[in-house]
Amino acid sequence: MRASELRPHYDVVVIGGGLVGASFACALQAQVSDGSLRILVTEAVESLQVSPSFDARSTALSYGSRKIYERLGLWESLAPYATPINRIHVSDRGHFGAVRIDSASMGVDALGYVVENQHLGVALTAALDAGPAIDFLCPATISSLTPLSDTHPVGAGPARDYPPAATMRVNVQHPSGELKEITAALVVLADGGKSTLCEQLGISSSVNHYAQKAIISNIAFENPHANVAYERFTDSGPLAVLPLATLHGEQRGALIWTVSESEADEVMALPESVFVQKLQERFGHRLGMIHKVGSRAAYPLTLSVAREQVRPGLVLLGNVAHTLHPVAGQGLNLALRDAQELAVLLGETHALGQSLGSMRVLQRYVELQQRDQDATINFSHYMTRLFSSTNLALIWARKFGLFSIDLVPALKKTFARQAMGLAERSIRRA
Ligand SMILES: Cc1cc2nc3c(=O)[nH]c(=O)nc-3n(C[C@H](O)[C@H](O)[C@H](O)COP(=O)(O)OP(=O)(O)OC[C@H]3O[C@@H](n4cnc5c(N)ncnc54)[C@H](O)[C@@H]3O)c2cc1C
Repeated sequence: MRASELRPHYDVVVIGGGLVGASFACALQAQVSDGSLRILVTEAVESLQVSPSFDARSTALSYGSRKIYERLGLWESLAPYATPINRIHVSDRGHFGAVRIDSASMGVDALGYVVENQHLGVALTAALDAGPAIDFLCPATISSLTPLSDTHPVGAGPARDYPPAATMRVNVQHPSGELKEITAALVVLADGGKSTLCEQLGISSSVNHYAQKAIISNIAFENPHANVAYERFTDSGPLAVLPLATLHGEQRGALIWTVSESEADEVMALPESVFVQKLQERFGHRLGMIHKVGSRAAYPLTLSVAREQVRPGLVLLGNVAHTLHPVAGQGLNLALRDAQELAVLLGETHALGQSLGSMRVLQRYVELQQRDQDATINFSHYMTRLFSSTNLALIWARKFGLFSIDLVPALKKTFARQAMGLAERSIRRA
């Protein structure tokens, strides 16, 4: 669609059609199936290959995320590209002790699934294009957001003729320069970890720099991966190899290799043969010889948590609300649980004819998800700290930790449920 075809007012405007914004829009549409809610999704980047969400990465979707995508009717189109994880193997390079979790002992078909982000992009974009309640405007950038209370302070004379439910004025900018002003009852900000709109609104984040970068690539190796996801902790940081479908007869996996910031440029620039050799040293020979590495990309790693997630008429979702270290594969999985909970709550609010942007509703969302967010953020953060340290006491702690998790069934179950995105935390469901 073109900017000129936009309605003057939407119930919900989602800024960012990446993994989280697109998933949320589909979840909200599924909650209000009579089409009585109008949703606009705007995405700045046209090509799936260029969008930060749909680049060459792969994502480990938890079992809980599969359930969410099933409810949204999206799993069917993702399943052909989803490689099941039947076992997770967590180990510590150079130290004794490992945790092995398998799907059979947890009573599920798979602990999770690995999907290349480009396939997620294709499925989500098709769902946005086809969504009867969704207008999808791409490419278009939201250049500014203005709370309507700011444009019409009490005692400032007659207000402009905005719809009664409107709380936000949204300026939409098409790359051609075409500009359009619309209003929304609620704006869902899902514009990723480098949000200029947050800056504009004065919403700050607490940021913890890990001084690490994740180097990602697809790799090919000798032995079948047998649907095992490997998490290996090394003195420079964690390294994961996730199982991918074979391609042209080659056994493949998605590599996420965390290295210190100071090492990253050097590792990125290594000739392929030397890169493979170093990787083999770090990872060992569980998958036999590594014989090919695809193109590499490096991501700086931070833990960033927004100091405010909601304001009247505004809610932050996905990386803009919380960006996590990817080691435990929790960032998108947490954001999908947030998105699903918010969609359910907004569906209920709409059915009662109440205002979607009211602080009472949005604060309820925060209350519902706070426990899950805190637990998931802490799980990722402390795992990273514990397993990146060369401190002797911490080495002993993790040796003991891995050993105990593997031997104590209750601990193992808790660890596995967290990894599978099934730890029950929402107070609505508790
Ligand atoms: C190496 C790595 C591996 C990971 N692996 C996993 C994993 O295995 N499992 C997991 O759960 N998570 C994983 N994650 C985390 C996951 O990738 C993120 O949680 C997810 O990408 C967040 O998506 P998002 O939509 O919030 O942000 P983004 O992906 O950044 O998308 C934001 C979108 O908003 C658009 N946008 C920005 N500004 C505007 C604007 N003004 N107007 C309109 N549009 C705009 C952008 O173009 C973009 O498409 C990993 C992360 C990394 C770095």
